[in-house]
Amino acid sequence: MDFTYPADVAEFRAEFGRYLDSEEMAELVRQNHAEDGWGGVAAKALWRKLGADGYFGTGWPEEYGGGGKSLLYLHGFNYEMGYRRLPVPVVTLNTVGPTLMRIGSEEQKQAYLRKILLGEIEFSIGYTEPEAGTDLAALQTSAVRDGDDYVINGQKVFTSGAHHADYVWLAVRTDKDAPKHKGISILIVPIDADGLEIRPLTIMGGGRSNITYYSDVRVPVSALVGEENRGWQYITTQLDFERVAISPIAQLERVFDWLCERFREDGLPSTDAWTRATLARMAADINVLKVMELKVASMVANGEVPVYEASLLKVLSNEFRVTFIGEVLQMRGAAGLVQKGFPGAALDRSEDTLEKQLRESPITLFGGGSNDVQRDIIATHGLGLPR
Ligand SMILES: Cc1cc2nc3c(=O)[nH]c(=O)nc-3n(C[C@H](O)[C@H](O)[C@H](O)COP(=O)(O)OP(=O)(O)OC[C@H]3O[C@@H](n4cnc5c(N)ncnc54)[C@H](O)[C@@H]3O)c2cc1C
Repeated sequence: MDFTYPADVAEFRAEFGRYLDSEEMAELVRQNHAEDGWGGVAAKALWRKLGADGYFGTGWPEEYGGGGKSLLYLHGFNYEMGYRRLPVPVVTLNTVGPTLMRIGSEEQKQAYLRKILLGEIEFSIGYTEPEAGTDLAALQTSAVRDGDDYVINGQKVFTSGAHHADYVWLAVRTDKDAPKHKGISILIVPIDADGLEIRPLTIMGGGRSNITYYSDVRVPVSALVGEENRGWQYITTQLDFERVAISPIAQLERVFDWLCERFREDGLPSTDAWTRATLARMAADINVLKVMELKVASMVANGEVPVYEASLLKVLSNEFRVTFIGEVLQMRGAAGLVQKGFPGAALDRSEDTLEKQLRESPITLFGGGSNDVQRDIIATHGLGLPR
């Protein structure tokens, strides 16, 4: 059993890390650290640069313009970006792209895959509705065939990134009489389509998500992904890819390394047994999660589908995230609660405040599939317990 990266992936990761830390990238990195929220003008500039320099495609097959390397390269890429608090277009690069490779039409592959690899286009996901969150199959936004078009009507909530994306990967109901999982389809909708309105939805962790309204929005039939009414299967494929890609561990390790540096520089009283013991436990937890993450990444790289393992990792890593940030705040005392821009704010190396990270930390308890439902998956798929 080998708990490390193969030598070529480790080499790629070290080289990519040096590239991100280079003088050439310094200004783009600085702009991204200054950008509020996750994505935006600075993120787009960074993604185009990474795309142009060939870093987006290393783990994609050669037939789609990628480097044809193992998917472990993608894991290394995500880790180095996350460790520096740099945005990754997870939805576009790690989920929509691979789903299109499997089920997209030739025309869609030609239209989107190359541009994704060059960092030129971005997708947002339009699944959730006011009355369809965890129970996503209850979604009501409809698409009705009219000649060579679909006509879309309805409302979505939490269409994150729609205000800077180019397309929405939209889940719609195309057969209202079929059982609820069997009447759903996926359409690719340009963000500037007539009748599509985007309104901001401020989120606790900073930045914004969106509410999106569809009033007689027309898209050609060629916007349909895969087959009509088989959308549920495509949604679950896309979410499986997403769950594997949204691990918080790289970001937590960055904060942990910064915290240890602070204590090495500022000192730590020998009587402070709680802090010492907690730091040791954090180190152990982070290392366990890194091994679990590598296992999931290796399974994906070997063509296995880690349904149960990805759910285990998602639940453990994201619940650890909330506990971890809370304990880091206790160690830093009042400084941890000071907002960015105010004197005394505790900033880690990427100038992120602990206060903001605390507000962000609950998001992935439900983002990418709520942990309660992940527990169901662990019980039924993993442990074979009855439903
Ligand atoms: C910041 C943010 C960004 C988001 N971005 C996107 C996006 O880009 N695109 C998109 O489509 N959606 C997005 N979402 C929506 C997200 O996927 C939903 O919030 C999530 O699916 C939960 O749905 P809900 O909010 O309606 O909660 P509900 O479904 O109402 O759930 C509320 C609570 O009940 C629990 N619960 C519900 N059903 C069950 C069950 N059967 N068993 C056990 N427990 C259950 C849930 O776990 C949760 O704790 C985003 C949400 C947030 C907060």
